[in-house]
Amino acid sequence: MDTIYDISVKGRVGVKLPDCDVPTSALPADLLRDELDLPEVSELQVVRHFVNLSSLNHSIDKGFYPLGSCTMKYNPKINEDVARLPGFAHLHPLTDDESAQGALALMYTLQEWLAEIAGFDAVSLQPAAGAQGELAGILMIRKYHLDRGDTKRTKILVPNSAHGTNPATVSMAGLEVVELPSDENGDVSLDALRAACNDTVAGMMITVPSTLGLFEAHIVDVIKLVHACGGLMYMDGANMNSLLGIVKPGELGFDVMHYNLHKTFSTPHGGGGPGCGAVAVNTKLKDFRPGPVVEITEAPTADEEAPLYGLVMPPKSIGRLKAFHGNFGMHVRAYAYIATYGDQLKEVSRHAVLNANYVRANLRGVYPMPYDRICAHEFVMEGHFKEAPDVHALDISKRLMDYGIHPPTNYFPLIVPEALLIEPTETEDKATLDEFIDVMKTIAQEAKTQPELLHDAPHVTPVGRVDEVRAAKQLVLCCRPVPEWDVEPAR
Ligand SMILES: *Cc1c(COP(=O)(O)O)cnc(C)c1O
Repeated sequence: MDTIYDISVKGRVGVKLPDCDVPTSALPADLLRDELDLPEVSELQVVRHFVNLSSLNHSIDKGFYPLGSCTMKYNPKINEDVARLPGFAHLHPLTDDESAQGALALMYTLQEWLAEIAGFDAVSLQPAAGAQGELAGILMIRKYHLDRGDTKRTKILVPNSAHGTNPATVSMAGLEVVELPSDENGDVSLDALRAACNDTVAGMMITVPSTLGLFEAHIVDVIKLVHACGGLMYMDGANMNSLLGIVKPGELGFDVMHYNLHKTFSTPHGGGGPGCGAVAVNTKLKDFRPGPVVEITEAPTADEEAPLYGLVMPPKSIGRLKAFHGNFGMHVRAYAYIATYGDQLKEVSRHAVLNANYVRANLRGVYPMPYDRICAHEFVMEGHFKEAPDVHALDISKRLMDYGIHPPTNYFPLIVPEALLIEPTETEDKATLDEFIDVMKTIAQEAKTQPELLHDAPHVTPVGRVDEVRAAKQLVLCCRPVPEWDVEPAR
């Protein structure tokens, strides 16, 4: 596709403004630049260019997106309508509390709902992403121990199936990662855990269900062991899409958990920033939450129905993580989503789990599966075949793109060779799942009979096979390719 510069014609303008009918004043000379090389295009050209560009990317609105761990469910459009209501969208972040009661009431209610859904006492909506929620959680755990004068606790236990953000978070918080192996069933090894528990352990981070899509069979024992040595339990709640209304992590004994509102509650995913990684905590950590949080500052009086809400900093807060109140637009969308489902929220998780198990059962025997047991909302299989030694998970994923399907997550979790992590989500119907199963069977056949078809894939996308290592190492961030980078991909 042409870049916007290719269609630029000297002297062409987007909008012709009427002649100025007021006196003009000179613009500051130091702000005017002649050397700026801007495209000269008409309004229609701009619209067509960007509409065409936008449709080149795959998205959930265009097709199936089984990207494991990311929960790429359909985001209902009503969320967008509600977030765009002028009272929400145009509210200035510096508006005083008294003039923003509606917005604060929404945030307060969302805090309450999120606490209730996962069985915790309090929530902070500050973190902008799951990874930031993790950082908040580990900083709270650290501060909890220091606050009690317990300065020895510098270690966080992390299973080897964990998402990369978990160990990264521990390091960023200035603590030390102790990696725990998984057993042959994909659960964390209890023997290794017992051996690691001592009075230098600040806590443990664990994902439930794990990144293998498996519900930790011994989770209650794991929590008891860590609590017995004085550590706190952090749950990575990225996979909450399988537990809504079924399991409350707070009741299992977890002390803190983050949600990814952009995974579980259908707010848009946004490049690691403009999401919401709300943290939920029990009474041990309530005072340490990042703030401000919303509290009722004045109970309703007899003649005045509504309470007064205010922004408050928890007394021992780890501080702010985000400007103003976090990503408020995300709070509105998640609120709309939860309100839409109401007490039917459980059905979301039941169908997410059912869909994953349906696909898993149908691909059993077609692809190697390291853990042959009922899965939660996602499952992991291996993208390689004895009969096709040169075919890898990456080739299978690239070939899927030719069929209009987004690839699953590749090479994660790290403990499974050639991993393909598949998460269909609850928003797909049986016909879509059946089509995916058929395509996966076709690709397995192609791998054995025409492997070159996979090695050269994708064939029908706007951009063919790219050199992913080079793309990551030589980032091209300008809209015009620099000639020496415009080369054939290395194989
Ligand atoms: C997505 C994910 C994270 C990180 O969440 P972000 O919102 O992308 O920062 C952490 N852990 C697991 C298991 C995840 O799937």
